[in-house]
Amino acid sequence: MFHVKQSTVIVVGGGHAGVEAASAAARMGTRTYLVTLRADTVGALSCNPAVGGLGKGHLVREVDAFGGIIGRAADRAGIQFRLLNRSKGPAVQGPRTQVDRGEYRAAIQNAISALPVQLVEGQVADLLVRDGRVSGVLLDDGAELPGDAVILTTGTFLNGVIHMGGETTSGGRLGESPSVQLADRLYGQGLPMGRLKTGTPPRLSGKSIDWSGLELQPGDENPAMMSFQSTGPHLPQVNCAITHTNEHTHDIIRRNLHLSAMYSGNISGKGPRYCPSIEDKISRFADKKSHQIFLEPETLVGETIYPNGVSTSLPRDVQIAYIRSIRGLENAEISQPGYAIEYDYVDPRALTAELEVRDMPGLWLAGQINGTTGYEEAAAQGLVAGLNAASSVQELPPVQFSRTESYIGVMIDDLVIRGVSEPYRMFTSRAEYRLSLRADNADQRLTPKAIELGILDARQRTFFENKMEQIDDARQKMKSVSVAGKTAREAGVNVAGDGKKRDLYALLSIPNVGVSTILSLSPDLAQFDDSILRQLENEATYSNYLDRQVQEVSRVRRYEGLTIPPDFNYQDIQGLSSELRHKLSIVRPTSIAQAERVEGMTPVALNTLIYRLKISR
Ligand code: FAD
Repeated sequence: MFHVKQSTVIVVGGGHAGVEAASAAARMGTRTYLVTLRADTVGALSCNPAVGGLGKGHLVREVDAFGGIIGRAADRAGIQFRLLNRSKGPAVQGPRTQVDRGEYRAAIQNAISALPVQLVEGQVADLLVRDGRVSGVLLDDGAELPGDAVILTTGTFLNGVIHMGGETTSGGRLGESPSVQLADRLYGQGLPMGRLKTGTPPRLSGKSIDWSGLELQPGDENPAMMSFQSTGPHLPQVNCAITHTNEHTHDIIRRNLHLSAMYSGNISGKGPRYCPSIEDKISRFADKKSHQIFLEPETLVGETIYPNGVSTSLPRDVQIAYIRSIRGLENAEISQPGYAIEYDYVDPRALTAELEVRDMPGLWLAGQINGTTGYEEAAAQGLVAGLNAASSVQELPPVQFSRTESYIGVMIDDLVIRGVSEPYRMFTSRAEYRLSLRADNADQRLTPKAIELGILDARQRTFFENKMEQIDDARQKMKSVSVAGKTAREAGVNVAGDGKKRDLYALLSIPNVGVSTILSLSPDLAQFDDSILRQLENEATYSNYLDRQVQEVSRVRRYEGLTIPPDFNYQDIQGLSSELRHKLSIVRPTSIAQAERVEGMTPVALNTLIYRLKISR
């Protein structure tokens, strides 16, 4: 009898990157180990108890479309669901849910235990290297774990140092030891590395807050779930509350700025610009008299409250003083102080598009170790590394993600080509093709690829195939029914009196025409689920824009070689955002092909630039 040796993938770290990497590798059919410092912290949320948001919600849906864990766990633990940017177009809407911290961790641990993943509790001290290839890991108790591929997802733990005012302790997170020897190994291999920082706010005791008089923020009435397969929230839903800093708060912080670890010069690493500390906000926006704070319950029972918007590295006594200067928090007790953490990361330009270290075959990196911030960014990279490590050791073709098909592709391309200068987080503005890369169609874009790889369970596959069948049937039905202009106008649709008949799908693509209008013209369509009709509404609404996008892209391709003079004045170009004008003035691309890679560039902006370059010649 033949015995085919099963390849082994070892994932180091049980955070958001690690669990998705392990899930993907196991589903790809490799023997998978997940080695992590503490089994009980698998799936722990280091900072805010929330998943998703603008750009981030897209990543969650894309990981979910590939059979990942994050979306389902967030739905299982969700205690408040909100679709951000609801009043704007679907392309920039971001599903977000606040989660019960303990329930989320339990959901992740259940999902991992349902997979053929072997959990190993221990600290990885070093990598085993044989014939120039990474061949396993060495644990700190001296045990060796051999494997064909290793994925490091150690988050903020590499040489982690925690700062709170003048107090400094080594740690990967509060109360957890850092990974120093492993960092030494990566430095020893000559990998390009740097230092970054991030911070977290103090946690408050819910009982000590005076909620009366604070503005309450409920979740959405019709929650948008994070996973395509979820039908509704599993847990009871809660309100958040909103309060604000005031001039007294700002005074306290300003007077103590010299005690802040972030501001006293103790920290060399760069912090996340889009997630600034309260010290940062007060210094950078000195004219602002007040900043909004969301008081978010960390659990269903509301014992611990996360004050979103006041992360800090000030000493404990100053944290108490500024917190108690805020309305509703006059008697607040701090259950865990805020702190900043500084850690090593690897310059992601050292990686391939599959997240393998170019100069260390057999080693993949994913998550915060690559200079990103956020659970969602980590989860998406974990998926990519897990799929590709497993493909590589089984000698299968790489699994690649392009900028045109996914936010995952946008992030990977940004990381491995542009690198990072500060913790990288996802935004919808990073995706040039965001009209087609919507959170609502992530499954249509990516699930067929996952089916082809054979990594979905039967339930998800059947669910997707049924949904696509219904969408196709409903679209066909809409296209088969045409109405005269007069009938359309009577139903409230603004069409020209040109005597032409138009089908219902074409009418649905007209701005402000929604499902209810189409149903009034063809009540038969009510046989389809509301979610199917809404999906077609999104698709039809964007179809005209997408045609234009295709034309813009082909125009850009034609002019990629067009050169840009070194002294070109970007400040006068009205059609560009001020942020983009600023970036172009700094980067000074020499051609349209180079300008295309400037962060935040879109096909529309490139076309504006091409037009200006042509008329200035
Ligand atoms: P992590 O979730 O950190 O997981 C790392 C895992 O690796 C852990 O399970 C750890 O036990 C394990 N590990 C480490 N070293 C070893 C080893 N040698 N052997 C075995 N196991 C090991 N994100 C935001 O988006 N906004 C914020 O404001 C924000 N603030 C933050 C504040 C703090 C203080 C911290 C710590 C993080 C913050 N984050 C924030 C970041 C967010 O927590 C991370 O982006 C996310 O958790 C990264 O996921 P990861 O899987 O890469 O790493």
